[in-house]
Amino acid sequence: MPKKSDAPSQRARLKRGHERGDYKHQTIHAILDAMPLCHVSYVLDGSPVVTPTFQWRQGNHVYWHGSSASRMIKKSDGADVCMAITILDGMVLARSAFHHSVNYRSVMLFGKASIVSDPQAATDRLKAMIEGLYPGRWDMLRPMNDQELKATTVLSMPIDEAAAKVRTGPPIDDDEDYDLPIWAGVLPVSLQVGAPISDPRVLSGVKTPDHAQNFKIGGHNKKP
Ligand SMILES: Cc1cc2nc3c(=O)[nH]c(=O)nc-3n(C[C@H](O)[C@H](O)[C@H](O)COP(=O)(O)OP(=O)(O)OC[C@H]3O[C@@H](n4cnc5c(N)ncnc54)[C@H](O)[C@@H]3O)c2cc1C
Repeated sequence: MPKKSDAPSQRARLKRGHERGDYKHQTIHAILDAMPLCHVSYVLDGSPVVTPTFQWRQGNHVYWHGSSASRMIKKSDGADVCMAITILDGMVLARSAFHHSVNYRSVMLFGKASIVSDPQAATDRLKAMIEGLYPGRWDMLRPMNDQELKATTVLSMPIDEAAAKVRTGPPIDDDEDYDLPIWAGVLPVSLQVGAPISDPRVLSGVKTPDHAQNFKIGGHNKKP
């Protein structure tokens, strides 16, 4: 069980269900690597906004990107940000409505976003995003041109203020409810990837690459 003193900050300290929490980089990195989909929240012009997008991790930083013209990008350089990453692992059906739950792995990450302004560093980060999802693809592609690079902005944030929360296992019912003749248990949930559907305009003779045939969400993410 994590200790209060393990929390990297007051706002990142787990209170409810803290026994399910974890502040270890290893746990946090593993969840980030397993799920590129994230939600980033900011306060824009005084109102909260949550943007679903993709994240990727390199070392102890998390990155996301977008159109240089988007308000999310323009307004978030130097801004306070909260990012959430969620993996739904199961629906947990208990013997009472109150004790229904879900199995999950999630991370909440706080910090200040900053733009990766050096063009070479930004290109390296974009390459890492593509390669993290589809190993070997970057070098198969037409290189990005200057206009595309200019139109794309990469944001980064250190993974210094984060908490993970994980629930596993069966429902936890009230003792007396275990005698009731009610089915209870877990419905495992996972994100499925289907077989590749080739673009009808793929030139004849071009083979479907391994990274498309064997794509797995979070499956290629053996990262430092
Ligand atoms: C798929 C899913 C479904 C959920 N469904 C419900 C639900 O229906 N009802 C419900 O009450 N809760 C649900 N939770 C748990 C929920 O995310 C919160 O943990 C819980 O509501 C407590 O919130 P709080 O702000 O009171 O937590 P607090 O413990 O006060 O939050 C303090 C700090 O703890 C950390 N923290 C809190 N929650 C999480 C988390 N999930 N992951 C990582 N760090 C966290 C953050 O750093 C946060 O700032 C669900 C979680 C997931 C992933």
